[in-house]
Amino acid sequence: MKGLVSSVSESTIKKLPKADLHVHLDGSLRLSTLIELAQEFKLNLPSYEEEGLRELVFKDQYKDLPDYLQGFQYTCAVMQDLQALERVAYEFAWDSYHDGVIYIEPRYSPELLKGDKLKSHEIIVAIDKGLKRAEQEINILIEKENQSLADDNSAIHPNFVYSHIICAMRMWDPEQSLSTIQSAVLTKEKHNLPIMAIDLAGPEDGFPAIDHEDAYTYAHKHFLYKTVHAGEAYGPSSIFQAITNLYADRIGHGFHLFNAEMINTKDPGKAKQYVENLVQYIAERRITLEVCLTSNLQTLPELKNDPANHSLPKMLEAGLSVAICTDNTLVSNTTVTKELMLAAKTFDLSQKTIKKLIMYGIKRSFYPGNYLEKKKYIDLCSKYYDSVVKE
Ligand SMILES: [Zn+2]
Repeated sequence: MKGLVSSVSESTIKKLPKADLHVHLDGSLRLSTLIELAQEFKLNLPSYEEEGLRELVFKDQYKDLPDYLQGFQYTCAVMQDLQALERVAYEFAWDSYHDGVIYIEPRYSPELLKGDKLKSHEIIVAIDKGLKRAEQEINILIEKENQSLADDNSAIHPNFVYSHIICAMRMWDPEQSLSTIQSAVLTKEKHNLPIMAIDLAGPEDGFPAIDHEDAYTYAHKHFLYKTVHAGEAYGPSSIFQAITNLYADRIGHGFHLFNAEMINTKDPGKAKQYVENLVQYIAERRITLEVCLTSNLQTLPELKNDPANHSLPKMLEAGLSVAICTDNTLVSNTTVTKELMLAAKTFDLSQKTIKKLIMYGIKRSFYPGNYLEKKKYIDLCSKYYDSVVKE
């Protein structure tokens, strides 16, 4: 895994074709937009200056998870409007593209954005409008760039692509999770939108994933992909439940995957075996871990603010499929490029490992096209990747 840190510069990583598979739209607004919308809707903010908000709300370090979550009351409040939703989605797509991210899967819970005026399907449609408009504009630029390469041997720039992930919440009544997913499926069918997957977010401890089995079974039977936030605050058994009961194709975070001591048994040998079996299963099935380093540093006190304490090297040593993601670009003040740089520097990752991490993001995406189209896209991304590295 060891490489020469100096061999991968930030400007190169920025140019590489990347995916962001784990990013909450309501945690990824532009700060300037949050302020403008709050002023427009006459909503209270602790400060109306970017600097002030960075000092008071969207900080580099947080006391704990509740402190981290503070900012969402403001972002969710300004998003309860169809035009604002469209704008936030549009800007998020452009901001991603400017970071060299060509594939995004913004996730959100329509229930948390509707306030008392909006309906779930209106929220999804408005967000899609923003994403689609950005996608079209970005792909015109990419097309122009590719045309100028026409006689050259250079690899062509892959298109910008997005899909939606709809979130249910762990602390909800399971009925609410089910109805959220049912409504997402109806919206997908009625409006022909790239709603590809569902997620379960919210606090793990005390709110087991298994409670939301009906929502996941419904999604499973409607051919939606599944991801679950698990192993962030709770142990390997939470990840096991996500995979076995909720059919998870991917796991959000999975930070505690290797922590046998979190398993409820008096027999340490048994616990160790359980973790080994689970890791083997995850590796074999290519269940992908969506790792968000900065967010973990900000919410998991056991990391002691040092990324070197993260379980990412263990995941890589076990041959697991891992994608590096942002979680929340505003709340964690980060980008995919920044996250990859942090991983590369902290663990002295080789160029080969960096390519693996980036390509897992594309390969294990919930791509809104058929298998052959996805294969072609992966191939394009890989060729373009090599051409950027060559430069
Ligand atoms: Zn998350």
